Amino acid sequence: MKNIYLDYAATTPVDERVSAAMKPYFTQIFGNPSSLHRFGQQSEAALEKSRRELAGFLGALPSEIIFTSCGSESDNLALRGSAFAARENTGANHFLISPIEHPAVLATAWQLINLHGFEMSLLPVDKFGRVSPQAVLETLREDTFLVSVMHANNEIGTLNPIAEIGKLCQEKGVLFHTDAVQSGAHFQLDVNLLGVNLLSLGAHKFYGPKGVGVLYIRTGTDLMPIQTGGSQEFGQRAATQNIPLIVGMAAAYELVQKEYEKRTKHILPLRDDLISRVLAEIPSSQLTGHPVDRLPNHASFVFDGVDGNHLISILDSVGFACSSGSACKTGDPEPSSVLTELGFSPSWALGSLRVTLGKDTTAQEINKFLEILPGSIHQLRELRS
Ligand SMILES: *Cc1c(COP(=O)(O)O)cnc(C)c1O
Repeated sequence: MKNIYLDYAATTPVDERVSAAMKPYFTQIFGNPSSLHRFGQQSEAALEKSRRELAGFLGALPSEIIFTSCGSESDNLALRGSAFAARENTGANHFLISPIEHPAVLATAWQLINLHGFEMSLLPVDKFGRVSPQAVLETLREDTFLVSVMHANNEIGTLNPIAEIGKLCQEKGVLFHTDAVQSGAHFQLDVNLLGVNLLSLGAHKFYGPKGVGVLYIRTGTDLMPIQTGGSQEFGQRAATQNIPLIVGMAAAYELVQKEYEKRTKHILPLRDDLISRVLAEIPSSQLTGHPVDRLPNHASFVFDGVDGNHLISILDSVGFACSSGSACKTGDPEPSSVLTELGFSPSWALGSLRVTLGKDTTAQEINKFLEILPGSIHQLRELRS
């Protein structure tokens, strides 16, 4: 039995071309980029080349690209760094986020509130999980220092109108951060078109290595460093840079820019076929997230009266790797907070399934999956009744 991976929103394999690009930097070119000798200079050259490449693709300046250890760290630095800088410089104490942000944003936000006394407003979302620019406008306060709204939601795939929100924030003079960790794999992101001050990326979601990310920081955006020490990364993040991973991230992102249109053309019809067949063949099923404004590789569903975690393990036992939104806490499943926020009752929300396709996913794989899925769900419903 060949296992079929359909969980590309969780992570992706490193592209062979990316791993080839990284290889010399583990053993041959190993100098500390801060060292003055030629070993250091070689590493520094690779570091700055990667930075220039990523900056170019994003429409940014090299000095606006900060390398981090992951998408989560980029989100942490954007929120905590801008909060602490605001406290120091202006005294502004309030920020806005959507209630369905990734935990890297949500948990950081709650810590800023509970531990540091900041105030937050949650933006309303529609039934697809979208934030409207109007809602941002209505929720902004005089003392708002930051708005953070994710580009694409990891659980339900919905895309937000980032450029419109960005324009509004620029007009109001408020910092705008977007978590683009999911969308980085699928689009040509331009920080000027998006109107962002801060943007997070993580390499392992676009066929790059795990453990490396980017925070784009627009010139003039004041952030307090969170990781203190040496003056690496323009003083925004202390640590000897991880050159192989950074080189790998730049190589992977270059491949996204070259290939994303081709990848989307391949994936989108497979994804659409999957969605329409699931909804047609499985009773009491619903798509979650927006039907059109969503990531091209992303299909997410809820099935009434089904245990989503149980479904994942049944699918895994026959060779399909998917995910469910619900966190299983000591055998007592909790519905996903994202789905609850969108108004799904526990009976629906507990039966969630996320199927995310990769650039090399085939029609045969989707067909095989669709041979298995309706029966698995039927079996689970029989068990309960
Ligand atoms: C995966 C993900 C993250 C976290 O990125 P890591 O590199 O795994 O830390 C943050 N936000 C979104 C939307 C994600 O999908």
